[in-house]
Amino acid sequence: MSHVMNTYARQNFALSHGEGAWLWDTEGKRYLDALSGIAVNTLGHQHPRLVRALEDQVRKLIHSSNLYKVPLQEELADKLSALSGMDTVFFCNSGLEANEAALKIARKYGHERGIQRPEVIVYEKAFHGRSIATLSATGNEKVQKGFEPLVEGFVRVPLNDIHLIEYLSRTHPNISAVFLEAIQGEGGIHPAQIEYLQALRKICDEKGWLLMIDEVQCGIGRTGKWFAHQWAEIIPDVMPLAKGLGGGVPIGAVVAKGAAATVLGPGNHGSTFGGNPLAMRAALEVLAVMQEDNLLDNARECGDIICKGLSQALAGVNGLVQIRGRGLMIGIELDRPCGALVEMARQAGLLINVTGEKVLRLLPPLIFTSSQAQQLVQILSPLIIRFLTASSGVNAA
Ligand SMILES: *Cc1c(COP(=O)(O)O)cnc(C)c1O
Repeated sequence: MSHVMNTYARQNFALSHGEGAWLWDTEGKRYLDALSGIAVNTLGHQHPRLVRALEDQVRKLIHSSNLYKVPLQEELADKLSALSGMDTVFFCNSGLEANEAALKIARKYGHERGIQRPEVIVYEKAFHGRSIATLSATGNEKVQKGFEPLVEGFVRVPLNDIHLIEYLSRTHPNISAVFLEAIQGEGGIHPAQIEYLQALRKICDEKGWLLMIDEVQCGIGRTGKWFAHQWAEIIPDVMPLAKGLGGGVPIGAVVAKGAAATVLGPGNHGSTFGGNPLAMRAALEVLAVMQEDNLLDNARECGDIICKGLSQALAGVNGLVQIRGRGLMIGIELDRPCGALVEMARQAGLLINVTGEKVLRLLPPLIFTSSQAQQLVQILSPLIIRFLTASSGVNAA
């Protein structure tokens, strides 16, 4: 019996090593990586520059402590502020921790404005993590079930309904923040509309609410901009980051602007591991490579090849609902649960994922090449057609 707690429905194979966008399992089978460990391995695997930076840092200092100054934190905070147009950064170690910090900012900000019981607007199909507070903010009953009582102070709404937000702005005096993903990841690649984000920004400004955009999955170049909300040409007040930031080294960060940037002071928040030199060095190198190698442009170009290729190959196929996303964050929605496609793809040498039961999710590393993008289309499209044809009798009825 395994002594690892049984919290994941794992596939029955293990990866041994990788190079670029390729991975090998412990049996020697090779895979094209179209998932990046769920949007984590931004530079693919064994990127020579990341390897060198980490080797160098390990020889110097892995961990010091937030009892002391950490110059690499200063450097990375400067960089993230410049890229986002925001002001300050708190460093932690994961997505849920970044979101937890965001929620603490929203609460304390509310209290400072005289709201005794601050509330945060959250969304159906949202995913913000699995701590007690972030699972309460998450819009998925499966994530919440068994962990009640949930944290209170959340008002839940459907995505992209601005009239409802306007209504809440008139009827709910205790709201201190709106909290959403620019593109919902776990919920099935559902983008917040550009106009919706812009309208939210306006209402938040008028009401003095914080606009908090969870970029844990869609941030760090994945959509072809540094942060997905930048497609709407707005700036949030609070932005949690994690997944892709460390290129595989665990890291989280919450970036804040204006009033939100100074809500947390000494004694209000902290993390033992947060901001350790190893993670800081990893993130600095990831961002430097992204910039020097134009990986934002690459994400857009490869994303276009994949979306156009799939649209052509799957045109008129019965059972395809929609192909959507931006850059290298792509969802292919089918009209039926399609978890079986994950194993079909694996056998064909391709790693993908299914989320929201009916949505194939593609999150290739940002170092993907155009020929790998074409390869992905060539492997995946016939599998989708085969899957839909084979299961059509089941569902057509
Ligand atoms: C993955 C994810 C999280 C949680 O991140 P963890 O590092 O697993 O805690 C939070 N928000 C979004 C949008 C995510 O995709």
